[in-house]
Amino acid sequence: MNKQYWSRRIADIEPYIPGEQPKDKKYVKLNTNENPYPPSPRVAEAVAKVAASDLRLYPDPDCAALKKTLAEFYGLRPEQVFVGNGSDEVLAFSFLAFTDEDTPAVFPDITYSFYPVYGEFFGTNCRIVPVREDFTIPLEQLMKNDGTVVLTNPNAPTGIGLSLDEVEQILRANPDHAVIVDEAYIDFGGESAVKLIDRYENLLVIQTFSKSRSLAGMRAGFALGNESLIAALNAVKNSVNSYTLDRMALAAAQAAVEDRAYFYDTCSRIAKTRETTTGKLRELGFFVLPSQANFVFASHERVPARILFRRLREEGVLVRYFDKPRIDDFLRITIGTDAEMEILTATLKRILEEQR
Ligand SMILES: *Cc1c(COP(=O)(O)O)cnc(C)c1O
Repeated sequence: MNKQYWSRRIADIEPYIPGEQPKDKKYVKLNTNENPYPPSPRVAEAVAKVAASDLRLYPDPDCAALKKTLAEFYGLRPEQVFVGNGSDEVLAFSFLAFTDEDTPAVFPDITYSFYPVYGEFFGTNCRIVPVREDFTIPLEQLMKNDGTVVLTNPNAPTGIGLSLDEVEQILRANPDHAVIVDEAYIDFGGESAVKLIDRYENLLVIQTFSKSRSLAGMRAGFALGNESLIAALNAVKNSVNSYTLDRMALAAAQAAVEDRAYFYDTCSRIAKTRETTTGKLRELGFFVLPSQANFVFASHERVPARILFRRLREEGVLVRYFDKPRIDDFLRITIGTDAEMEILTATLKRILEEQR
């Protein structure tokens, strides 16, 4: 392609590749960790109300109502909350705010694959820490205090969680740098670090509305941390776009947080389905990592993941396959409804029989 007009900044970048959203036919879609349940009914009501009246006006650039609702839910003050257009945006702003040439981003080799893209794009150095053979994170290697540690907890795509005690050890060992904990999947069974915020001023917790609150299509994410970290994120945001969240997203997100009963119910249903699915996959000869997320990471004892991925796709079941060293014999399978997971396991059973 002719890149004559491209800035030097982007000439050589390798952008992140999102999971596919195919349009050719209807799939059982278990590839991008979306929630199988619709958002709370209160979300539709809130959005309809906004659509009918206020869209002519700019949204609140401070997102005060949503911040207040989140602060109440998490037992914090609104000054400890930042909201953005999906947590990918919050993460991008965090890389800009807390890493640079002298302050590297420190993260595992097996984790959310957007981190190295941000690092590259923003001219941050990255120190990559290989996970252990069993995919757990070597804590001792995060105690070196030379940069901004970025962790997904529970980790993706493995689903393995760190305990609160482990997160606290990392915070204590890195008082001179921010520690970013991306809790995209925390509501499905992990131990959130939010309760450490008042004790560790270097802690930034990032969460999303896309997974546990069924709002991937709306684009809303948030960060929780001490005021100075939040002020840094606001400085970045207000240097790029003051209105990252539109009125519908603000209303939807607020309604989703307010409906606590619906949130707890759907999260616990997904956690339950994850446990039954894990059992069934093991019966079919899969090695399944212990997951605290809304997906499982699984490898078959006999049939390569690449083949299973392709055959499942042909059969109308979409999962995620990463053609990358160390994980190229694994499938990442999002937890759907019980009915969807029955289709998955039945289809796998047939495929495994034909692969004898
Ligand atoms: C899904 C995901 C995100 C992004 O969420 P959005 O809010 O939809 O941008 C961030 N981090 C991890 C680890 C994720 O899996």
